[in-house]
Amino acid sequence: MRTLLIAGNWKLNPTTTEAAVALAEGVKTGLGTATDVHVAVAPPFVFLGQVDGVLEGSPIGLSAQDMYWENSGAFTGEVSGCMLVDVGCTHVILGHSERRHGMGETSEVVNKKLKAALEAKLIPIVCIGETKEERLGEQTEAVLLEQLSGSLAGLSPEQAAGVVLAYEPVWAIGTGLTATPEQAQAAHAFIRGWLAKVFGEATAARVVVQYGGSVKPDNAVQLLGCPDIDGALVGGASLKASDFLAIIKAGQ
Ligand code: 13P
Repeated sequence: MRTLLIAGNWKLNPTTTEAAVALAEGVKTGLGTATDVHVAVAPPFVFLGQVDGVLEGSPIGLSAQDMYWENSGAFTGEVSGCMLVDVGCTHVILGHSERRHGMGETSEVVNKKLKAALEAKLIPIVCIGETKEERLGEQTEAVLLEQLSGSLAGLSPEQAAGVVLAYEPVWAIGTGLTATPEQAQAAHAFIRGWLAKVFGEATAARVVVQYGGSVKPDNAVQLLGCPDIDGALVGGASLKASDFLAIIKAGQ
């Protein structure tokens, strides 16, 4: 059976070490030591080391929000998988829509990063999802297909089983417009069907597929109750410890 993963993507927040440490402390204290679900937080790169110190002794995983596919060399501004492991990371978010759409990241680039993340023994959280125009144009499945096949190209079933996918419809991110549980479940079932076709039923049954896009304490129970939704990737609501903790509770 799959264990839910509730992860907080802090994006470009907060803006000081002090606030990042306080947020991590709030989540750690509120969560305690035992939890039925997996939990992770993804602060900006510069706070990872300090947040790792705060999370010591807690079951909370530490995630980066991106990484580069080479380990070292002349790649100004980049951060590698082995560096992330060195500062305590367990997870890394890849191909977030804000990178795909805001920074021109293609599925081919995501694929390179994914292979490097697996090599570094990080748990990758690979984001996929359609824009509003694509949904209205009935392109949702075609877009998911391209992003899945491009991002996961060349993986063995065993490698695929270790990937976390996050279905994040772009139109639901930061907008307050959550996908209905029916819309989300339909997309998740499509994703799991694709996984079964490409990697086999047994692998598809093991892959954790999170939902992301305006997940809040008041819609988390319904979304997390869907059979193919295995957790949440939370943006805005992960910046307030009490809201993030309420979402975690909804998954328990
Ligand atoms: P919001 O929860 O703010 O909509 O963000 C979702 C997201 O992009 C998580 O990666």
